[in-house]
Amino acid sequence: MATGSIGSTSATLRERLAKLPRVSLATLPTPLEPCENFRRAIDGPRLFVKRDDLTGLAFGGNKVRQLEFLFADVIAKGSNCVVAGAYTTSNWCRQITAAARKLGLDVYLVLAHGEKGPALQGNLLLDRLMDANIEIVDTDDEGLQPLLEAKVAALRALDLRPYLISSFALETQAVAALGYVNAAIEIAEQLSAKCLVPTHVYLAGAEMSPAGLAAGFRLLGMPTQVVGIAPVRYRIKTDRAADIAGIATATAGLLGYDIAFGRDEIVNDDGYIGPRYGVVSSAGLDAMKLLARSEGIILDPVYSAKALSGLIDHVRRRIIHPDATVVFVHTGGLPALFSYADDLEL
Ligand SMILES: *Cc1c(COP(=O)(O)O)cnc(C)c1O
Repeated sequence: MATGSIGSTSATLRERLAKLPRVSLATLPTPLEPCENFRRAIDGPRLFVKRDDLTGLAFGGNKVRQLEFLFADVIAKGSNCVVAGAYTTSNWCRQITAAARKLGLDVYLVLAHGEKGPALQGNLLLDRLMDANIEIVDTDDEGLQPLLEAKVAALRALDLRPYLISSFALETQAVAALGYVNAAIEIAEQLSAKCLVPTHVYLAGAEMSPAGLAAGFRLLGMPTQVVGIAPVRYRIKTDRAADIAGIATATAGLLGYDIAFGRDEIVNDDGYIGPRYGVVSSAGLDAMKLLARSEGIILDPVYSAKALSGLIDHVRRRIIHPDATVVFVHTGGLPALFSYADDLEL
C-alpha cells in the first residue's frame, strides 16, 4: 500500500475522531520502540513495542486511552461521581480513580477479591492512596453488576449524580474502544514514517482494545491482523471473537461508518492463559524475563507477559511469517508486578 493513501484515509478518520467528545488524560502518542535484541533472541520478524504502559496517568496502561472518551460522557451528563467495579487488583478501577481525581470527581469502587485478596499492594494500594470510596465484596467479577446498580441507587438517594462506568455494557465498550482506534492511527503513522505497514498487531486483550484496533486498521484500509491474546476464560460470554466483532461494529458506527465486522475477521487466542486469570503461567514468566533482560522493558504477569508468550509461540510455530512486521502493544498493568514477587521464580 502506498504511504500516501494511509495519509489521506488517516486524515479522514482523524477528523471524524476529533469530532467526538474527549477529555485529555493520556500522554500521546506513546513511543513505538524497535526491539532488536529481543527480536534476535526469538529469531523473529521485524518487531516493535508500542509503549502503552507509558500513557502517563497513575502508572499508565491501556485504559487511559479508553477513559479519554468515556469521561467526556461523564462530564457531558453533568455527573459528580463515578461508580465502577472489578477485582481488587483491577487496572481498570485504578485508572478510573486517577481520571476521576484529575477531573475533580468523586469515585466509588465495588471490588471483588482478586487472586491476591485485599492486600494493600498494587492497584488497591493506589486506589486507597487516591482515596477512592471502596467496598470489597465477596463475589466474582460476573456477580458485580447488580451490586454496582445498587450502589448507583444508594448514591442517587443521597442526592449525588453518579455515573456507572460498566465494562459489561456494549454502549460503554464501543465508546472505550475509540481510544484504540486512535492507537491504530498512531501505529499506522509511526510505521508509515519508516515506510512500513504492520502485518500483525499483538496485545493482551479480550474486549475494547482489540476491538478498537481492529476497527481502526480496517477503517484505515490496512491489511493489519490484530491478534488478541486472552488473559481470562469467561464462564458466560464465551464467544470472544463475536463479542469483539460486535464492539468493533458499534465503534465504527460512532465514527459514522456503517460497517459490520464478522467474528471470522477477529483473532482472539485463549491458549496462553495458563492455570487461570491472575495466576502466572510459566511461558509468561519466560517471556517476561526475556524482554526484561534483552530490552529493559518490564511486563506485568497477568496480561502483557502472557500476551508476549503467545507472540513468541506464534513465531516458533510459523503462524507469524519471518518477513512480517509485528507490533506488540504493551498494555501496562505494572502496579501488580510487586504482588507477584513470590511467583516470579527469581
Ligand atoms: C484491561 C487490560 C487489558 C485488556 O483490555 P481490554 O480493552 O479489555 O481488551 C490488557 N492489558 C492490561 C494490562 C489491562 O489492564
